Amino acid sequence: MTPMKQGRYKAVAGYYYKTPKEIWGFRTKAARGRPANRARDFLKANRDLFGLAGISSRIKLQRKIESLGARHLIFQQSHLGLRIHRAYVTVHMDLKNRIYMAKNRAVPAEFLPPKLDPKKSKFLLTRERARRRAIRSVSRGGKNCRVLDVEKLWYPEEKFLRPAFRVRIHRLQPYEDWIVYIDARKGKLLNKYDNLAMRRAMARVFDPNPVVALNDWKSLLSEDGKPKRPPADVYRTVTLRNLKGTGYLEGAHVTTCRTRNRIKRPDLRFDFESTEAGFDEAMVYFHIDRAVEYLKSLGYRGKRAIFEKAIEINAHGTRKDNSWYSPGLKRLTFGTGGVDDAEDAETILHEFGHALQDAICPDFGQSPEAAAMGEGFGDYFAASFFEEYKTDKELRVSISSWDQITDKEFEPPCLRRVNLPMTFENFDNAEDADEHQNGKIWSATLWDVRERFGRDIADRIIIESHFQLDGFTKFARAARAIIDADRNLYRGRHVVALRRIFHARGIGPVE
Ligand SMILES: [Zn+2]
Repeated sequence: MTPMKQGRYKAVAGYYYKTPKEIWGFRTKAARGRPANRARDFLKANRDLFGLAGISSRIKLQRKIESLGARHLIFQQSHLGLRIHRAYVTVHMDLKNRIYMAKNRAVPAEFLPPKLDPKKSKFLLTRERARRRAIRSVSRGGKNCRVLDVEKLWYPEEKFLRPAFRVRIHRLQPYEDWIVYIDARKGKLLNKYDNLAMRRAMARVFDPNPVVALNDWKSLLSEDGKPKRPPADVYRTVTLRNLKGTGYLEGAHVTTCRTRNRIKRPDLRFDFESTEAGFDEAMVYFHIDRAVEYLKSLGYRGKRAIFEKAIEINAHGTRKDNSWYSPGLKRLTFGTGGVDDAEDAETILHEFGHALQDAICPDFGQSPEAAAMGEGFGDYFAASFFEEYKTDKELRVSISSWDQITDKEFEPPCLRRVNLPMTFENFDNAEDADEHQNGKIWSATLWDVRERFGRDIADRIIIESHFQLDGFTKFARAARAIIDADRNLYRGRHVVALRRIFHARGIGPVE
Protein backbone atom coordinates (compact mmCIF):
# COMPACT_ATOMS: atom_id res chain seq x y z
CA MET A 1 0.00 0.00 0.00
CA THR A 2 1.28 3.48 -0.78
CA PRO A 3 1.18 6.33 1.75
CA MET A 4 -1.71 8.80 1.62
CA LYS A 5 -0.92 11.87 -0.44
CA GLN A 6 -1.30 15.23 1.18
CA GLY A 7 -4.39 17.06 0.01
CA ARG A 8 -6.14 13.76 -0.71
CA TYR A 9 -7.72 13.56 2.73
CA LYS A 10 -9.04 15.84 5.46
CA ALA A 11 -7.50 15.90 8.91
CA VAL A 12 -8.16 17.06 12.47
CA ALA A 13 -4.81 18.16 13.88
CA GLY A 14 -3.66 16.84 17.24
CA TYR A 15 -2.50 19.34 19.82
CA TYR A 16 0.54 17.82 21.52
CA TYR A 17 2.15 15.53 19.02
CA LYS A 18 1.58 17.36 15.73
CA THR A 19 0.11 14.21 14.25
CA PRO A 20 -3.51 14.13 13.03
CA LYS A 21 -6.12 12.95 15.54
CA GLU A 22 -8.39 11.94 12.73
CA ILE A 23 -8.27 11.69 8.94
CA TRP A 24 -11.25 11.25 6.66
CA GLY A 25 -12.60 12.32 3.26
CA PHE A 26 -10.84 9.53 1.31
CA ARG A 27 -11.45 5.92 0.35
CA THR A 28 -8.74 3.42 -0.51
CA LYS A 29 -9.10 0.75 -3.20
CA ALA A 30 -10.98 -2.47 -2.53
CA ALA A 31 -8.76 -5.34 -1.50
CA ARG A 32 -8.92 -8.99 -0.57
CA GLY A 33 -7.48 -10.42 2.58
CA ARG A 34 -8.08 -10.16 6.28
CA PRO A 35 -9.28 -6.76 7.50
CA ALA A 36 -6.71 -6.76 10.31
CA ASN A 37 -3.85 -7.21 7.83
CA ARG A 38 -5.31 -4.54 5.60
CA ALA A 39 -5.49 -2.12 8.53
CA ARG A 40 -1.90 -2.96 9.54
CA ASP A 41 -0.67 -2.35 6.00
CA PHE A 42 -2.43 0.99 6.03
CA LEU A 43 -0.86 2.03 9.34
CA LYS A 44 2.57 0.86 8.18
CA ALA A 45 2.32 2.79 4.92
CA ASN A 46 1.28 5.91 6.83
CA ARG A 47 3.52 5.56 9.86
CA ASP A 48 5.16 8.96 9.27
CA LEU A 49 1.83 10.71 9.03
CA PHE A 50 0.55 9.12 12.26
CA GLY A 51 3.86 9.27 14.15
CA LEU A 52 4.08 5.50 14.43
CA ALA A 53 7.71 5.11 13.34
CA GLY A 54 9.49 2.79 15.74
CA ILE A 55 6.37 1.86 17.68
CA SER A 56 4.34 -0.12 15.12
CA SER A 57 5.07 -3.37 16.90
CA ARG A 58 3.71 -1.92 20.14
CA ILE A 59 0.30 -1.25 18.59
CA LYS A 60 -1.83 -4.35 19.08
CA LEU A 61 -5.26 -5.13 17.72
CA GLN A 62 -7.61 -5.04 20.66
CA ARG A 63 -11.08 -5.27 19.13
CA LYS A 64 -12.80 -5.67 15.82
CA ILE A 65 -16.38 -4.42 15.58
CA GLU A 66 -18.65 -5.36 12.67
CA SER A 67 -21.46 -2.94 11.85
CA LEU A 68 -23.93 -3.29 8.97
CA GLY A 69 -21.77 -1.69 6.30
CA ALA A 70 -18.32 -1.48 7.82
CA ARG A 71 -15.60 -2.95 10.00
CA HIS A 72 -13.94 -1.00 12.77
CA LEU A 73 -10.56 -2.10 14.07
CA ILE A 74 -9.30 -0.76 17.35
CA PHE A 75 -5.59 -0.92 18.19
CA GLN A 76 -4.07 -0.16 21.56
CA GLN A 77 -0.55 1.13 22.16
CA SER A 78 1.62 -0.17 24.97
CA HIS A 79 5.07 0.74 26.24
CA LEU A 80 7.48 -1.40 28.27
CA GLY A 81 4.74 -3.94 28.71
CA LEU A 82 2.07 -1.53 30.01
CA ARG A 83 -0.96 -0.08 28.29
CA ILE A 84 -0.95 3.65 27.56
CA HIS A 85 -4.21 5.19 28.70
CA ARG A 86 -6.27 6.55 25.75
CA ALA A 87 -3.50 5.78 23.21
CA TYR A 88 -5.55 3.96 20.63
CA VAL A 89 -5.59 3.92 16.86
CA THR A 90 -8.72 2.96 14.95
CA VAL A 91 -9.10 2.05 11.29
CA HIS A 92 -12.50 1.99 9.61
CA MET A 93 -13.22 0.18 6.33
CA ASP A 94 -16.24 -0.90 4.34
CA LEU A 95 -17.06 -4.55 3.59
CA LYS A 96 -14.73 -4.51 0.58
CA ASN A 97 -11.86 -3.45 2.82
CA ARG A 98 -11.88 0.10 1.48
CA ILE A 99 -10.51 2.22 4.30
CA TYR A 100 -12.29 5.57 4.66
CA MET A 101 -11.33 6.91 8.08
CA ALA A 102 -8.75 6.53 10.84
CA LYS A 103 -8.36 7.97 14.32
CA ASN A 104 -5.07 8.23 16.07
CA ARG A 105 -4.07 8.91 19.65
CA ALA A 106 -0.74 7.10 19.56
CA VAL A 107 2.16 8.62 21.47
CA PRO A 108 5.16 8.99 19.10
CA ALA A 109 8.42 7.28 20.08
CA GLU A 110 10.23 10.48 21.05
CA PHE A 111 7.74 11.13 23.86
CA LEU A 112 8.02 7.70 25.44
CA PRO A 113 9.95 7.47 28.72
CA PRO A 114 13.26 5.55 28.43
CA LYS A 115 13.66 2.12 29.89
CA LEU A 116 14.92 2.26 33.46
CA ASP A 117 17.05 0.03 35.54
CA PRO A 118 14.48 -2.31 37.13
CA LYS A 119 15.93 -1.53 40.55
CA LYS A 120 15.05 2.14 40.08
CA SER A 121 11.47 1.48 39.15
CA LYS A 122 9.26 4.41 38.30
CA PHE A 123 6.53 2.67 40.21
CA LEU A 124 7.50 3.73 43.69
CA LEU A 125 4.05 3.21 45.08
CA THR A 126 3.05 -0.35 45.79
CA ARG A 127 -0.23 -1.64 44.41
CA GLU A 128 -1.59 -1.78 47.93
CA ARG A 129 -0.81 1.87 48.62
CA ALA A 130 -2.31 2.96 45.32
CA ARG A 131 -5.42 1.03 46.17
CA ARG A 132 -5.76 2.67 49.57
CA ARG A 133 -5.09 6.09 48.10
CA ALA A 134 -7.82 5.55 45.49
CA ILE A 135 -10.37 4.46 48.08
CA ARG A 136 -9.61 7.53 50.15
CA SER A 137 -10.26 9.74 47.12
CA VAL A 138 -13.86 8.54 46.83
CA SER A 139 -14.77 7.95 50.47
CA ARG A 140 -13.17 9.21 53.63
CA GLY A 141 -13.59 6.08 55.70
CA GLY A 142 -13.62 3.70 52.75
CA LYS A 143 -17.01 2.41 53.84
CA ASN A 144 -18.90 0.16 51.41
CA CYS A 145 -16.04 0.29 48.90
CA ARG A 146 -14.95 -2.73 46.93
CA VAL A 147 -11.91 -2.55 44.68
CA LEU A 148 -12.60 -4.46 41.48
CA ASP A 149 -9.14 -4.19 39.95
CA VAL A 150 -5.85 -2.31 39.99
CA GLU A 151 -3.92 -1.86 36.75
CA LYS A 152 -0.48 -0.33 36.18
CA LEU A 153 -0.42 1.85 33.10
CA TRP A 154 0.94 4.99 31.49
CA TYR A 155 -1.16 8.08 31.95
CA PRO A 156 -0.67 10.91 29.44
CA GLU A 157 -0.37 14.34 30.96
CA GLU A 158 0.00 16.83 28.15
CA LYS A 159 2.85 15.43 26.02
CA PHE A 160 4.40 13.10 28.53
CA LEU A 161 3.54 9.83 30.14
CA ARG A 162 3.34 9.27 33.84
CA PRO A 163 3.46 5.89 35.49
CA ALA A 164 0.11 5.46 37.17
CA PHE A 165 -2.41 3.06 38.64
CA ARG A 166 -5.95 2.74 37.40
CA VAL A 167 -8.22 1.58 40.22
CA ARG A 168 -11.82 0.52 39.73
CA ILE A 169 -13.98 0.90 42.81
CA HIS A 170 -17.56 -0.13 43.28
CA ARG A 171 -19.45 1.44 46.11
CA LEU A 172 -22.82 0.69 47.65
CA GLN A 173 -24.67 3.44 49.49
CA PRO A 174 -24.32 5.75 47.69
CA TYR A 175 -24.28 3.60 44.62
CA GLU A 176 -21.16 4.58 42.69
CA ASP A 177 -18.82 3.07 40.16
CA TRP A 178 -15.48 4.88 40.14
CA ILE A 179 -12.43 4.79 37.94
CA VAL A 180 -9.55 6.50 39.74
CA TYR A 181 -6.08 7.29 38.39
CA ILE A 182 -3.27 7.62 40.93
CA ASP A 183 0.23 8.89 40.15
CA ALA A 184 2.59 5.97 40.82
CA ARG A 185 5.46 8.18 41.97
CA LYS A 186 3.85 10.59 44.38
CA GLY A 187 0.47 9.06 45.05
CA LYS A 188 -1.26 12.15 43.69
CA LEU A 189 -4.82 11.81 42.43
CA LEU A 190 -4.67 12.36 38.65
CA ASN A 191 -8.32 11.93 37.80
CA LYS A 192 -11.47 10.22 38.97
CA TYR A 193 -14.70 9.51 37.24
CA ASP A 194 -18.00 8.06 38.41
CA ASN A 195 -19.68 6.06 35.66
CA LEU A 196 -23.06 6.08 37.33
CA ALA A 197 -23.22 9.78 38.12
CA MET A 198 -25.40 10.74 35.16
CA ARG A 199 -27.88 8.01 35.81
CA ARG A 200 -28.11 8.86 39.46
CA ALA A 201 -28.67 12.61 39.42
CA MET A 202 -31.74 13.14 41.56
CA ALA A 203 -33.60 15.66 43.67
CA ARG A 204 -36.59 15.88 45.93
CA VAL A 205 -39.04 18.54 44.83
CA PHE A 206 -42.59 19.78 45.11
CA ASP A 207 -44.46 19.17 41.88
CA PRO A 208 -45.90 21.72 41.66
CA ASN A 209 -46.53 22.39 45.36
CA PRO A 210 -47.81 20.89 48.65
CA VAL A 211 -51.33 22.26 48.22
CA VAL A 212 -51.79 20.40 44.94
CA ALA A 213 -50.07 17.28 46.29
CA LEU A 214 -52.46 17.06 49.24
CA ASN A 215 -55.41 18.62 47.43
CA ASP A 216 -55.84 20.52 50.65
CA TRP A 217 -54.78 23.96 51.82
CA LYS A 218 -56.40 24.16 55.25
CA SER A 219 -54.17 21.53 56.89
CA LEU A 220 -51.06 23.36 55.69
CA LEU A 221 -51.87 26.43 57.75
CA SER A 222 -51.08 26.49 61.42
CA GLU A 223 -53.20 28.30 64.01
CA ASP A 224 -51.51 31.66 63.84
CA GLY A 225 -51.81 31.98 60.07
CA LYS A 226 -48.28 30.77 59.35
CA PRO A 227 -47.54 27.93 56.95
CA LYS A 228 -46.73 24.57 58.51
CA ARG A 229 -43.83 22.41 57.53
CA PRO A 230 -45.16 20.22 54.71
CA PRO A 231 -45.35 16.48 55.48
CA ALA A 232 -42.90 14.02 53.90
CA ASP A 233 -45.41 12.60 51.43
CA VAL A 234 -45.78 15.85 49.47
CA TYR A 235 -42.25 15.48 48.06
CA ARG A 236 -41.55 13.76 44.78
CA THR A 237 -38.21 12.13 44.00
CA VAL A 238 -37.23 13.05 40.46
CA THR A 239 -34.35 12.46 38.09
CA LEU A 240 -32.46 15.60 37.11
CA ARG A 241 -31.69 15.73 33.42
CA ASN A 242 -29.09 17.55 31.34
CA LEU A 243 -26.68 18.16 34.22
CA LYS A 244 -23.04 18.68 33.33
CA GLY A 245 -21.87 16.54 36.26
CA THR A 246 -19.84 19.29 37.92
CA GLY A 247 -21.59 18.77 41.24
CA TYR A 248 -23.46 22.05 40.85
CA LEU A 249 -26.96 22.51 39.50
CA GLU A 250 -25.50 23.42 36.18
CA GLY A 251 -26.87 21.98 32.98
CA ALA A 252 -27.69 22.51 29.34
CA HIS A 253 -30.85 24.57 29.99
CA VAL A 254 -30.48 25.96 33.51
CA THR A 255 -27.71 26.98 35.86
CA THR A 256 -28.09 28.26 39.41
CA CYS A 257 -24.73 30.00 39.03
CA ARG A 258 -26.05 33.34 40.34
CA THR A 259 -27.07 31.89 43.70
CA ARG A 260 -24.98 32.94 46.66
CA ASN A 261 -23.46 30.03 48.66
CA ARG A 262 -24.48 27.75 45.88
CA ILE A 263 -24.75 24.10 46.86
CA LYS A 264 -22.42 21.46 45.51
CA ARG A 265 -23.13 17.73 45.56
CA PRO A 266 -20.45 15.73 43.73
CA ASP A 267 -22.67 12.63 43.99
CA LEU A 268 -25.45 14.62 42.26
CA ARG A 269 -28.00 13.75 44.93
CA PHE A 270 -29.85 16.97 45.66
CA ASP A 271 -31.87 15.54 48.47
CA PHE A 272 -33.18 18.40 50.60
CA GLU A 273 -36.13 19.30 52.77
CA SER A 274 -37.87 22.53 51.90
CA THR A 275 -36.31 24.14 54.98
CA GLU A 276 -32.77 23.43 53.74
CA ALA A 277 -30.80 25.86 51.60
CA GLY A 278 -30.42 23.62 48.54
CA PHE A 279 -34.13 22.99 48.08
CA ASP A 280 -34.94 26.19 46.17
CA GLU A 281 -32.07 25.56 43.79
CA ALA A 282 -33.18 22.00 43.15
CA MET A 283 -36.72 23.28 42.50
CA VAL A 284 -35.74 25.88 39.92
CA TYR A 285 -33.34 23.53 38.20
CA PHE A 286 -35.82 20.69 37.86
CA HIS A 287 -38.85 22.76 36.85
CA ILE A 288 -37.16 25.06 34.36
CA ASP A 289 -35.21 22.23 32.79
CA ARG A 290 -38.45 20.28 32.37
CA ALA A 291 -40.23 23.34 30.92
CA VAL A 292 -37.49 23.76 28.29
CA GLU A 293 -37.76 20.04 27.50
CA TYR A 294 -41.48 20.58 27.04
CA LEU A 295 -40.84 23.37 24.52
CA LYS A 296 -38.50 21.00 22.71
CA SER A 297 -41.24 18.40 22.64
CA LEU A 298 -43.51 20.95 20.92
CA GLY A 299 -40.92 21.26 18.16
CA TYR A 300 -38.74 24.14 19.41
CA ARG A 301 -35.49 22.24 19.19
CA GLY A 302 -32.41 22.09 17.00
CA LYS A 303 -32.34 25.20 14.80
CA ARG A 304 -35.75 26.17 16.21
CA ALA A 305 -34.56 26.06 19.82
CA ILE A 306 -35.82 29.11 21.72
CA PHE A 307 -33.00 29.37 24.28
CA GLU A 308 -29.44 29.61 23.06
CA LYS A 309 -27.84 28.91 26.39
CA ALA A 310 -28.60 27.94 29.96
CA ILE A 311 -30.88 30.35 31.86
CA GLU A 312 -29.05 31.84 34.82
CA ILE A 313 -30.80 31.73 38.16
CA ASN A 314 -30.41 33.29 41.56
CA ALA A 315 -32.59 30.98 43.66
CA HIS A 316 -32.69 33.28 46.68
CA GLY A 317 -31.68 36.74 45.57
CA THR A 318 -33.85 38.91 47.77
CA ARG A 319 -35.58 38.69 51.16
CA LYS A 320 -38.64 40.32 49.67
CA ASP A 321 -41.68 38.32 48.66
CA ASN A 322 -40.97 39.00 45.03
CA SER A 323 -39.29 37.42 42.02
CA TRP A 324 -38.39 38.79 38.62
CA TYR A 325 -36.79 38.23 35.27
CA SER A 326 -34.19 40.74 34.15
CA PRO A 327 -34.13 41.07 30.35
CA GLY A 328 -30.86 43.04 30.58
CA LEU A 329 -29.03 40.32 32.49
CA LYS A 330 -31.17 37.48 31.08
CA ARG A 331 -31.46 36.20 34.61
CA LEU A 332 -34.19 35.00 36.98
CA THR A 333 -34.13 36.00 40.64
CA PHE A 334 -36.36 34.45 43.29
CA GLY A 335 -37.26 35.99 46.63
CA THR A 336 -37.58 34.36 50.04
CA GLY A 337 -40.21 36.60 51.66
CA GLY A 338 -43.19 34.60 53.04
CA VAL A 339 -43.02 31.12 51.57
CA ASP A 340 -39.90 31.06 49.35
CA ASP A 341 -41.07 31.79 45.80
CA ALA A 342 -38.96 28.93 44.48
CA GLU A 343 -40.85 26.49 46.71
CA ASP A 344 -43.80 26.79 44.35
CA ALA A 345 -43.27 25.52 40.82
CA GLU A 346 -46.14 27.65 39.53
CA THR A 347 -44.32 30.79 40.63
CA ILE A 348 -41.18 29.42 38.98
CA LEU A 349 -43.00 28.82 35.70
CA HIS A 350 -44.65 32.23 35.80
CA GLU A 351 -41.18 33.79 35.92
CA PHE A 352 -39.95 31.37 33.29
CA GLY A 353 -42.79 32.70 31.10
CA HIS A 354 -41.08 36.11 31.10
CA ALA A 355 -37.76 34.54 30.08
CA LEU A 356 -39.52 32.62 27.33
CA GLN A 357 -41.18 35.71 25.89
CA ASP A 358 -37.96 37.68 26.06
CA ALA A 359 -36.07 34.90 24.27
CA ILE A 360 -38.58 34.93 21.40
CA CYS A 361 -39.32 38.62 21.37
CA PRO A 362 -36.58 40.69 23.05
CA ASP A 363 -37.70 43.25 25.65
CA PHE A 364 -41.31 42.16 25.59
CA GLY A 365 -43.68 44.25 27.66
CA GLN A 366 -42.73 47.90 27.11
CA SER A 367 -46.27 49.20 26.66
CA PRO A 368 -49.04 48.81 29.30
CA GLU A 369 -50.87 46.24 27.18
CA ALA A 370 -47.71 44.30 26.39
CA ALA A 371 -46.71 44.36 30.08
CA ALA A 372 -50.15 43.02 31.05
CA MET A 373 -49.83 40.27 28.44
CA GLY A 374 -46.44 39.39 29.88
CA GLU A 375 -48.04 38.75 33.28
CA GLY A 376 -51.09 37.04 31.82
CA PHE A 377 -49.00 34.72 29.69
CA GLY A 378 -46.83 33.68 32.67
CA ASP A 379 -49.95 32.87 34.70
CA TYR A 380 -51.43 30.97 31.78
CA PHE A 381 -48.23 29.00 31.14
CA ALA A 382 -47.95 27.93 34.80
CA ALA A 383 -51.65 27.02 35.07
CA SER A 384 -51.60 25.16 31.77
CA PHE A 385 -48.49 23.19 32.70
CA PHE A 386 -49.93 21.84 35.95
CA GLU A 387 -53.63 21.64 35.15
CA GLU A 388 -53.58 17.88 34.78
CA TYR A 389 -52.06 17.45 38.26
CA LYS A 390 -55.14 18.87 39.92
CA THR A 391 -58.46 17.36 40.80
CA ASP A 392 -60.10 20.27 42.58
CA LYS A 393 -62.10 22.44 40.18
CA GLU A 394 -61.05 25.70 41.78
CA LEU A 395 -57.43 24.69 42.17
CA ARG A 396 -57.24 23.99 38.43
CA VAL A 397 -57.60 27.68 37.67
CA SER A 398 -55.54 29.01 40.60
CA ILE A 399 -51.79 29.42 40.54
CA SER A 400 -49.19 29.46 43.30
CA SER A 401 -51.48 28.32 46.09
CA TRP A 402 -48.52 27.27 48.28
CA ASP A 403 -46.65 30.52 47.68
CA GLN A 404 -49.81 32.32 48.84
CA ILE A 405 -50.94 29.85 51.51
CA THR A 406 -51.60 32.61 54.04
CA ASP A 407 -53.65 34.64 51.56
CA LYS A 408 -57.25 35.29 52.54
CA GLU A 409 -58.54 36.90 49.36
CA PHE A 410 -59.25 33.69 47.49
CA GLU A 411 -60.48 30.24 48.41
CA PRO A 412 -58.35 28.23 47.71
CA PRO A 413 -55.55 30.70 48.40
CA CYS A 414 -53.62 31.66 45.28
CA LEU A 415 -51.51 34.31 43.65
CA ARG A 416 -53.98 34.75 40.78
CA ARG A 417 -56.73 32.98 38.92
CA VAL A 418 -56.86 32.44 35.21
CA ASN A 419 -60.62 32.29 34.66
CA LEU A 420 -61.95 35.55 36.04
CA PRO A 421 -64.97 37.08 34.26
CA MET A 422 -63.03 40.08 32.95
CA THR A 423 -63.06 41.70 29.54
CA PHE A 424 -60.97 44.37 27.82
CA GLU A 425 -63.49 46.87 29.21
CA ASN A 426 -61.89 46.25 32.61
CA PHE A 427 -58.45 47.31 31.40
CA ASP A 428 -57.16 49.96 33.78
CA ASN A 429 -55.47 52.71 31.78
CA ALA A 430 -54.37 54.74 34.80
CA GLU A 431 -50.69 55.58 34.95
CA ASP A 432 -50.16 53.54 38.12
CA ALA A 433 -52.27 50.62 36.88
CA ASP A 434 -51.03 47.18 37.94
CA GLU A 435 -49.98 45.01 35.01
CA HIS A 436 -50.72 41.85 37.01
CA GLN A 437 -54.29 43.01 37.47
CA ASN A 438 -54.66 43.91 33.78
CA GLY A 439 -52.92 40.66 32.92
CA LYS A 440 -55.88 38.71 34.30
CA ILE A 441 -57.88 39.72 31.23
CA TRP A 442 -55.28 38.16 28.99
CA SER A 443 -54.75 34.97 31.05
CA ALA A 444 -58.52 34.42 31.12
CA THR A 445 -58.61 34.80 27.33
CA LEU A 446 -55.78 32.31 26.89
CA TRP A 447 -57.48 29.97 29.34
CA ASP A 448 -60.63 30.07 27.20
CA VAL A 449 -58.49 28.95 24.26
CA ARG A 450 -57.11 26.08 26.31
CA GLU A 451 -60.52 25.02 27.64
CA ARG A 452 -61.78 24.93 24.08
CA PHE A 453 -58.92 23.11 22.32
CA GLY A 454 -56.87 21.42 25.04
CA ARG A 455 -53.34 21.94 26.19
CA ASP A 456 -51.43 20.79 23.16
CA ILE A 457 -53.11 23.00 20.56
CA ALA A 458 -53.49 25.97 22.90
CA ASP A 459 -49.87 25.98 24.07
CA ARG A 460 -48.64 25.56 20.52
CA ILE A 461 -50.56 28.41 18.91
CA ILE A 462 -50.05 30.71 21.89
CA ILE A 463 -46.27 30.21 22.04
CA GLU A 464 -45.97 30.31 18.26
CA SER A 465 -47.86 33.65 18.14
CA HIS A 466 -45.04 35.42 19.99
CA PHE A 467 -42.67 35.17 17.04
CA GLN A 468 -44.51 37.94 15.16
CA LEU A 469 -44.93 40.28 18.12
CA ASP A 470 -42.76 43.10 19.40
CA GLY A 471 -42.12 44.70 22.78
CA PHE A 472 -44.97 47.22 22.38
CA THR A 473 -47.71 44.94 21.17
CA LYS A 474 -51.41 45.25 21.94
CA PHE A 475 -54.07 42.72 22.93
CA ALA A 476 -55.75 42.92 19.52
CA ARG A 477 -52.52 42.37 17.65
CA ALA A 478 -51.54 39.47 19.91
CA ALA A 479 -54.96 37.91 19.32
CA ARG A 480 -54.43 38.22 15.56
CA ALA A 481 -51.02 36.60 15.99
CA ILE A 482 -52.68 33.59 17.63
CA ILE A 483 -55.03 33.35 14.67
CA ASP A 484 -52.06 33.55 12.26
CA ALA A 485 -50.32 30.81 14.22
CA ASP A 486 -53.41 28.66 13.87
CA ARG A 487 -53.49 29.32 10.11
CA ASN A 488 -49.84 28.29 9.83
CA LEU A 489 -49.97 25.27 12.12
CA TYR A 490 -53.53 23.97 11.72
CA ARG A 491 -54.69 25.54 8.42
CA GLY A 492 -56.95 27.83 10.37
CA ARG A 493 -59.06 24.99 11.74
CA HIS A 494 -59.73 26.89 14.97
CA VAL A 495 -60.03 30.42 13.63
CA VAL A 496 -63.81 30.77 13.90
CA ALA A 497 -63.86 29.63 17.51
CA LEU A 498 -60.82 31.78 18.34
CA ARG A 499 -62.55 34.89 16.97
CA ARG A 500 -65.54 34.12 19.11
CA ILE A 501 -63.36 33.81 22.21
CA PHE A 502 -61.57 37.12 21.57
CA HIS A 503 -64.84 38.85 20.79
CA ALA A 504 -66.40 37.64 24.04
CA ARG A 505 -63.47 39.09 25.96
CA GLY A 506 -63.82 42.42 24.16
CA ILE A 507 -60.54 42.02 22.28
CA GLY A 508 -60.39 43.09 18.67
CA PRO A 509 -60.92 43.62 15.90
CA VAL A 510 -59.31 40.32 15.06
CA GLU A 511 -59.91 39.76 11.35
ZN1 LIG B 1 -44.47 38.40 36.33
